[in-house]
Amino acid sequence: MARNLDPKCRQCRREGEKLFLKAEKCFTDKCAIERRAYAPGQHGQKSGQRLSGYGQQLREKQKIRRIYGVLERQFRKTYFEADRRKGATGENLLQLLEGRLDTVAFRMGFGGSRAEARQVVRHNGVLINGKRVNIPSYTLRPGDVVQLTDATRAHLRTKAALAAAAGRGFPEWIEVDAAAGKGIFKAFPQRAELSSTINESLVVELYSR
Ligand code: SF4
Repeated sequence: MARNLDPKCRQCRREGEKLFLKAEKCFTDKCAIERRAYAPGQHGQKSGQRLSGYGQQLREKQKIRRIYGVLERQFRKTYFEADRRKGATGENLLQLLEGRLDTVAFRMGFGGSRAEARQVVRHNGVLINGKRVNIPSYTLRPGDVVQLTDATRAHLRTKAALAAAAGRGFPEWIEVDAAAGKGIFKAFPQRAELSSTINESLVVELYSR
């Protein structure tokens, strides 16, 4: 399986903002963005770099891909599916990304980061409506029940991730019973419920060129 092997903190520094790609470290002052808030590499500290319109669109697309841990081909596929659906393409795109099983598992606290949640999924640690599903890109439907298997729920790392997520609070569009390691994907999130630092319209402009 292809993966993005770039160091995670480096990816955040490239985008100039926290993408929350690691687990608890992202919430501490050890976060690389807190310490070195400039782009990586020899010329990273040079200020005044101005991006062209195309450059901005490309950067935004890379940022969203990195946040959701999706490679180019799959991202493009998701975009065309979003474009095919009714409604605003940009919002559809974010909803489809949020409806991915790995993202929902992360939102439910089944892993400390998306990468960790994806690993839980791939290692058969998650059931959807009682059936084992190990495909991270699987798109959930509103009302689907996602739960950890008993074996995975017993892992100390999973327990810690669930406790940390419960402490931070769960988003509105999912309902989680942390003690039971179980949650319901109630609905696709509305745009206003998602991060305001994402500018999905730039991605739409990029793919419409
Ligand atoms: Fe990004 Fe987390 Fe690393 Fe901070 S600690 S730079 S948010 S991956």
